[in-house]
Amino acid sequence: MKPNFDTIAEVLRNAHTVGVASHIRPDADALGSTIAFALWLRECGKEVTAYNEEGSTSKFHYLPCHEIVVMPPSAPQTFDVFVALDTSVKNRLGSVHEAIAPGTPILNIDHHISNENFGDVNYIDPSAPATGQILFEFFQHVGARISPEMATNLFAAISTDTGSFQYAGTNERTFSAAGHLIACGVDVSALSRAMYDSQPRRRFELLRHALNSAEFDDDGRIATFSLSLELVEKLKVLPEDNEGIIDHLRSVEGVEAAVFFEELPEGKVRVSARSKFPRIDVCKVCKKFHGGGHPMAAGARVDGTLIQVKSDFLKALSDEIRN
Ligand code: AMP
Ligand code: MN
Ligand code: MN
Repeated sequence: MKPNFDTIAEVLRNAHTVGVASHIRPDADALGSTIAFALWLRECGKEVTAYNEEGSTSKFHYLPCHEIVVMPPSAPQTFDVFVALDTSVKNRLGSVHEAIAPGTPILNIDHHISNENFGDVNYIDPSAPATGQILFEFFQHVGARISPEMATNLFAAISTDTGSFQYAGTNERTFSAAGHLIACGVDVSALSRAMYDSQPRRRFELLRHALNSAEFDDDGRIATFSLSLELVEKLKVLPEDNEGIIDHLRSVEGVEAAVFFEELPEGKVRVSARSKFPRIDVCKVCKKFHGGGHPMAAGARVDGTLIQVKSDFLKALSDEIRN
């Protein structure tokens, strides 16, 4: 039977120790959802531990109560229930995965269409544009009081994953959630300033480089940008700095898909792909490279050199655009 919000409440009802975590290279949906859910569980009297592989990175210090998210220990921990949020496949939990003792029941709450249902209970709603929206609707369902801190985390989660309420999937439910969250105490202007107008100078230097070196293929329908390890070293950029750079490529007229290739130390390349039109499914392309995500925003980690991965991926993307 497909689980509903009552199933989630039931799974958590008798749990005393609860772990909560989200995916590696977290975005505000991952961390904001983790924090909001952890805060609610604490209100319910649970003993809660919140993890992310990177802990709470400086970029997200604007999220209220961000300090409750810590890096996972190396030894496995036992929980009555472990909640995975915004995580499509188990290995996207990164090192958090090793901190969960085998046999721990996993509650998987997510909005990725590519979710592999790795939990014991899987609540997956691909119609929600953010995990934060699912949690908001769950809190409403159970009649939870949403504190200003919870509301701000959920608003940040929804705002980022919808590209500031612009992407496909942003619907009446989304604006209704945002409206309710504002009524619960979100300071939209202060939060937006922290999220969108407080970029570190390092990121600006990366953007400058990206704009200078962007390439356009397939008659300008595909825009790409690559980041080599050499450049990371030179510009002293952190992994968190490159989120959103790709949006500048997609914003160009005539561009139908944008791809960002990032060389990783382990002989892998991180691919981040975005589509401008629903008919171009970048998740389908990323799945061919063992990745996943959403139809219009997806990613993969691929073995190989920057040049090779770029060539293989662009070929597959070109096929998707033409068909
Ligand atoms: P990103 O391009 O990293 O912002 O990711 C875009 C979307 O694709 C997010 O929803 C990610 O969860 C998903 N995604 C990114 N990389 C992977 C991967 N290696 N495997 C599965 N899903 C991914
Ligand atoms: Mn995410
Ligand atoms: Mn998300």
